[in-house]
Amino acid sequence: MSHKKREDSLDGHFPEGIYCPVIPRAVLRERLLIGKLTITGIGLEKKCGCCDEYWPCDTQFFYPNHSTSPDRLSNWCKACFMEKTARSTSLRRQRSSEAA
Ligand SMILES: [Zn+2]
Repeated sequence: MSHKKREDSLDGHFPEGIYCPVIPRAVLRERLLIGKLTITGIGLEKKCGCCDEYWPCDTQFFYPNHSTSPDRLSNWCKACFMEKTARSTSLRRQRSSEAA
């Protein structure tokens, strides 16, 4: 009689591996107040610290960060992280080709 499928019914609309972290009520209230989080027609959204855009507050758009972030998600959206990584990689490539 152990139905361990409760998460499925809660997050049924998320693709596999994607989830919205549970944010403590106090953190949620504070973040809504300062505009770091907002509630839109599609649900909770989080503002990226890099591009200043609001993205859905889940792990599809933000990397999970349980250690340092109070809302459990990285400060930057995945796109910004990827852009930064790509840029530093191409910069490094440029520099090494210049040196050669
Ligand atoms: Zn961003």
